[in-house]
Amino acid sequence: MVSDVGLFGRGDRHRRPAGSDADGSPHEGAAGGSGAGGPPPAVDSLVDGPVTADGGPGAPALSASGLSKLFGDRVAFRDVSFEVGAGEVFGFLGPNGAGKTTTVRTLGTLIAPTSGSATVAGIPLTPGNGVDIRRRISIMPESPGLYPRLSVLENLECFAELYGTPDPAGRIDRAVRAVNLADRTGDACGALSKGLRQRVALARALLSDPEILFLDEPTAGLDPVAARDVHELIAALSRSGVTIFLTTHRLAEAERLCDRVAILNTTVRTIGRPAELRDRLFARTLTVRTLAPLGDPGRVFGGLPAVDGWRQDGPVAYVLTVADATVAAPAVTRALVKAGADVLSLGESHHSLEDVYLELIEDSEAVRGE
Ligand code: ATP
Repeated sequence: MVSDVGLFGRGDRHRRPAGSDADGSPHEGAAGGSGAGGPPPAVDSLVDGPVTADGGPGAPALSASGLSKLFGDRVAFRDVSFEVGAGEVFGFLGPNGAGKTTTVRTLGTLIAPTSGSATVAGIPLTPGNGVDIRRRISIMPESPGLYPRLSVLENLECFAELYGTPDPAGRIDRAVRAVNLADRTGDACGALSKGLRQRVALARALLSDPEILFLDEPTAGLDPVAARDVHELIAALSRSGVTIFLTTHRLAEAERLCDRVAILNTTVRTIGRPAELRDRLFARTLTVRTLAPLGDPGRVFGGLPAVDGWRQDGPVAYVLTVADATVAAPAVTRALVKAGADVLSLGESHHSLEDVYLELIEDSEAVRGE
């Protein structure tokens, strides 16, 4: 899918200094709350106070430090700390009930944290800063929250008006082109497929030209083609400089799109680049398969450079723990040939982000169950 998402490039946008209102029009409500209602209500507990942006060159777009949210005795998330760089795609992964949506709602100023601190778009998350933060962010909730009887255009006009979007016609035009819906603006939203409704929801989130876009499970329930379309849009938005905070259950999606991911199960279990997490958690291994069992595998694999150990995995398979596959693999090949083995395959084992996730989540579930 080719989109005009570059039109939303952050580079050509005049960044408002925190606390100012350069275009004279608030985008309050751009952090679209769930449901078909318009702008999200400000957190009740928010009271007026000064905006003090501590963002500067190189400052994180988003940061949390020891952030917690409790509903009565129930912990939604606890002691969550992370930083997200400007323009980064940051994945937030975790099982059902891990606290992902509540974290988004907290950072999006829809609910107040119980304790801890955070900055959003360089602005401290304090009771008085909700309006200024909401001018710089958008939230795309899991449920698109559109009026089904209104057309795509009418929905976007309605939200643009609620948000007080400047130049609404221009913004709507750019938004529908960004999500490739320019030819469907007359269709009633209720008559669109789920994938198309997600695109309308994304267009709605783009109306405010956000610096940070929170996407809460944007591909939930979409077929692979519709999900790929959304992936391409996210990637294009990221290239244009928008910081993306993505919650998802799709680990392949996170692996493909995210610069870094956090794995959450009420508390943050780990944070890092997917490849780093794999290396941190799993030893590198080579798997060798032969036509017939090796007569003396210990002699074949023993003492080879970069091979730290081996084990048999079935009658004709051998798993070697290696320090460096690029050194070990040629040495193993030579040793097998020398031993007269008929080699069927030799390959480096690949651990996916899903392996990392399952290892960490099963581990934390086990701890919980103790
Ligand atoms: P899922 O992947 O299923 O969407 P999640 O990781 O987004 O889950 P949350 O929706 O953030 O999880 O919920 C975290 C915990 O907080 C759950 O135990 C949930 O029941 C609880 N919770 C969320 N919102 C409220 C609320 N308004 N009142 C009470 N408890 C809540």
